[in-house]
Order: sequence, then C-alpha cells, then structure tokens
Amino acid sequence: MKLVDDAITTAGSLPDYFVIGGKLRRADEAITVLDPGSGARLADMPMGTPADVDEAVATAKAAFASWRSLEPKARGKLLWHIGDAIEAKRDPLALVEALDTGKPHKDALASVDRTADFFRYYGGMVDKLEGTSIPLGEGKVCFTEKVPIGVTGHITPWNVPISMVARGLAPALACGNTAVIKPAEDTPLSTVLLVQVLEEAGLPSGVVNVVTGAGSVVGQHLCEHRDVGHLTFTGSVGTGQLVMTAAATHLASVTLELGGKSPHLILADADLDKGVSIILNGAFKNAGQICSAGTRLLVEAGRHAELLDRLARAVQDMTLGHGLTNPDMGPLISARQLQTVAGFTDRARAAGADITTGGNPASVAGYEAGFYFEPTIINDVAPDSELAQSEIFGPVLSVLPVADLDEAIAVANHSDFGLAAAIQTRDISKAMRYARAVNAGQVFVNGYHNAGDTVPFGGMKASGIGREKGLEALDAYTETKAITVSY
Ligand code: ADP
Repeated sequence: MKLVDDAITTAGSLPDYFVIGGKLRRADEAITVLDPGSGARLADMPMGTPADVDEAVATAKAAFASWRSLEPKARGKLLWHIGDAIEAKRDPLALVEALDTGKPHKDALASVDRTADFFRYYGGMVDKLEGTSIPLGEGKVCFTEKVPIGVTGHITPWNVPISMVARGLAPALACGNTAVIKPAEDTPLSTVLLVQVLEEAGLPSGVVNVVTGAGSVVGQHLCEHRDVGHLTFTGSVGTGQLVMTAAATHLASVTLELGGKSPHLILADADLDKGVSIILNGAFKNAGQICSAGTRLLVEAGRHAELLDRLARAVQDMTLGHGLTNPDMGPLISARQLQTVAGFTDRARAAGADITTGGNPASVAGYEAGFYFEPTIINDVAPDSELAQSEIFGPVLSVLPVADLDEAIAVANHSDFGLAAAIQTRDISKAMRYARAVNAGQVFVNGYHNAGDTVPFGGMKASGIGREKGLEALDAYTETKAITVSY
C-alpha cells in the first residue's frame, strides 16, 4: 500500500525490538502489529518473557542510585532537553503513531507535541520539589523531604500511546525514579522509539527500559515484581483491578486511570452554534476511543429535536478514512474492538433502539480491510440501559432526554464511573451547581477537554485512583520522609 509504504520510508525503519539498559532486545516469538487503517501488517514486535521483565527491573534498580542523586538542576535541564529532542523527531514519531493507532495524522502530531511538553513541564519542577518544616519547639528541628520511590512500572493502553507514556514517565523521572514500561500489544512502536530518543538526548541507559509483550505475562509480572514500588496503569477497569491486586501482594502504590461514561449536559439555553462541534469532538475524537469521551449526552427538554437534527446533519459531513489522509475520524484500533463496538449497536438495535445515524461498521474505499465504524448517535437511551451504563470505547453517542437540571444531575451521577463531565449553558449559576454536584474528576463548562495537560486528571468511583497531569501527579512518584533532629 503506497501511502503506508511511503510513510514508513519517511519515518525510517520500524522497530522490531525492545530496550533494556540501552541494548536492543529481540525474541524468538513475535506479536504482529497491524495498521488499523488498512489491516496490513506493520511490524513484528518481540514477545517479552518474565525473565526479560526481571532483567529490566534489575537494570532500572541499578540505575536508580545515580539518577536520584543527580543534581536537581541537571536533571531538570536534561528533561527539558529531552522535550527539545522529541520535538526534533516530531515528524517520524507522529507518522509511526498515526500508522500504529490509525488516528488522523494531525492528532498524532498533537500527541507528539504533548509528549515533548510533559518532559518540559516536569523538567521545570525538578528543583522545586520542596519539603516543609514543622515546628516542634526548642531543642528540635523537623523537616520533610520528597524522596523518589525507586523503580516505577508503567503499563499503557493503545489509544494515545506516546503521550500516555510521557504523562507518567516525565513526572516519575523528574522525581528521581527509574522506570520499566510495558506498552499495549497493539501499539508498542512509538514507545520503543521514544525510549531511544530519550537515550540519544543523554538519559543514562537503564533509567528507562521497555519490554513489549502480552499484558497477562509481561504486564502481570511487572505488577507482581517486588522491586517495583509504584505502578501507573491506564486501561480497562477489569485489568486495573488485576494490577491493583498484584500490587497489593508487595504493597506497591498505584495510579489507575480507568474507564468512563462521561455525561455532557446541554441545557435549553445553550449556544448550539458552538455546541454541536464541542459535542462531536467530545464524543468522536480518536474514534471515541478516549476514556474521558463525552458519550452520554443529556439534553434538556425544549432543544432536543433541534439538537438531534443539527448533530445528525453535522455527522453526515464528517469524513472517515485512513489516518494518514487526515480525515475527521480514523478507524478503530483492531478487528476485536470493531466487533466489540458493533456488538453494542447490534444489541441496541435488537432491543428496538432509535438509531439517529450510523450504527454499523463502515467501508472506506481503498482500505476495505481497515477497522472502520460509522459515527453513531442513538436517541432516547434509557439511563439504566447498557448504552448508558457501559463504556463502549468507540464512536457511539447515547442521547438521554432530561426534564431539567435536577433530573440531569441525578442521571449524570447514575453511573459506576466518574472521570469527566461537561455542561453547556449561558447560566453561570446552573453551570456551577452542576459542576459542584457531578461526581467527576474533571468538569468542563462550555467546552470539552478544554483543560489541557497541566490540570490534574483522574477518576472518581470505578474510573480510578490518583491523579495524573499537573503538579498533583508528582505526589504519586515521591514519598515524604520526615527528619527530626534534637539539639
Ligand atoms: P484492552 O482490553 O482494551 O486491551 P487493557 O486494560 O487490558 O485494555 O490493556 C491496557 C494495558 O494493560 C495493556 O498494555 C495490556 O497489555 C496491559 N495488561 C493486560 N492484562 C494485564 C495484566 N493482567 N496485568 C498487567 N497489565 C495487563
């Protein structure tokens, strides 16, 4: 396929290895990585083993002493320099990311930019990780220090691979920790390349290691490893529970960013001229494969018919295609995910759902073997139904009519999840009432995903534990040591 072949040539060769202590490692067994846009084979990545994980953790452990004791200013400067090195590799990294995930090329470029920014942001924090002084009276001095944990494990998902690695890795390194990464089976390529960029920029070998392979083998063993002090995981609720259970066997701390079914409330006074694109962006960005996607659209009586009509017309104009052609929406990640998403719409259809638009796998000319699904809107979804309760992780927007703000708050909170929530209204009092009342780690008013990467992000209830991004993320990668001196 010419488009794909040209992109690979431009990006340079794709990796067929992982990296431990700066050394490229291959294995007898491989996982085939596909281009979701064409279904074609992209690369064969090594199937790591528990022994590889042991070696990676031992390497990270050995690198810890000198990394943690590097002068903060020097560590900060290096992380900032890494940001620049990532930016210098922006084009090849984004091409690989677009190929591996299927996302539109412009979104892959944005992901690489965010990756660079994570290193700069946390690089700027290295010499500001201050402790406190606690008054204990005459004859004593008491102060606290923020100390690194040691080896941190990072298990990442397939939807936004490169920037999700960075959002955990950058604060972990800033605090003086070392790391072992286990990327998702479907999308390991950019992570391996990123580790090489870090080392080329001057990061000592062994500070960051990556082992590719099966989650149930490499991921599980990393979580169970007694020398891993903290685990950062982004993925499904069920796997998050396995990670936490394994971490509990040796009392490692965890950051878990899990699923969501985020409510997006449109009050009758909302500015729909702006609102329609905000809704579609919130629901269909990355083909809906975002944990914090706004997938439950709560619409106040009065604007329901008008909004539905405007959404349906806007969806008709959306382009679907291979990520490298820069469409509005790319494919889903895999045939398995396509089947999962189609399962939800098939069951809904069988139960008599009112499908406004979409609801089926799609075919893109020239890319018939790609994993495409139509942007889908389903009307009059009942708050208790599967479509309102389960995370679909695809481009499926459920519309739930509500009578007023009070009912909307009740419906919004009727969920196991609590990752994000949004409201569109011109009434600031209603916006604030909603923002305070919803159970969600982030709330967006008159926008969606309008916060950015310096704002704490994470979930309540089944959506997770802990916060990533912003200064709060640093808490996960340090422990407080209190030192008391009697004199
Ligand atoms: P999905 O089912 O959509 O692939 P997961 O939550 O299972 O989502 O995957 C997220 C990450 O967790 C991936 O890197 C995957 O390999 C990893 N993973 C899967 N199973 C385990 C496990 N038992 N322990 C640790 N990591 C795992």
